[in-house]
Amino acid sequence: SNKAIKMVDAPEGYSGAGFFATSLEKVIGLARANSLWPLPFATSCCGIEYMATMGANYDISRFGSERMSFSPRQADVLMVMGTIAKKMGPIVKQVYEQMAEPRWVIAVGACASSGGIFDTYSVLQGIDRIVPVDVYVPGCPPRPEQILEGLMRVQDLARNESLRRRNTPEYQALLDSYNIK
Ligand code: SF4
Repeated sequence: SNKAIKMVDAPEGYSGAGFFATSLEKVIGLARANSLWPLPFATSCCGIEYMATMGANYDISRFGSERMSFSPRQADVLMVMGTIAKKMGPIVKQVYEQMAEPRWVIAVGACASSGGIFDTYSVLQGIDRIVPVDVYVPGCPPRPEQILEGLMRVQDLARNESLRRRNTPEYQALLDSYNIK
């Protein structure tokens, strides 16, 4: 019948996930990306650069992230800044586990990313040994612009976050690989 719905020319997003679901994802992604609440887990010098990032010159509030949260359940982005001693590792992991999905992690600076200059028995050689890291910010310390760049990369991820992705077997396998229950 000529009344049959022709799907081949359907606009993008009309088939597959469906137009409504796809549009809703975009709106939620946009809202999330521009209101990411960071939990600053600052242990040393990189945390000082973060303070500068909060100040008027760099003004992290331009990105909607001036509202810090020290309650993991109200935080979207775990920002680990500084040297993480192995004894502190379980605390970082616990904070991550207490955050609600969707959640993101930024390793700010060389110490959080790889242990930095502290290649020694007592220092965790990168937080990705205990939690999944989304963005690594290089530097010792990184400049505030670099920290903002890292935040903007997380905004990219948040903007494109699927409402279902975190329930996929692939993502669960990733979490299992980090031994996070
Ligand atoms: Fe300090 Fe450098 Fe480590 Fe940052 S990366 S915490 S500036 S030693």
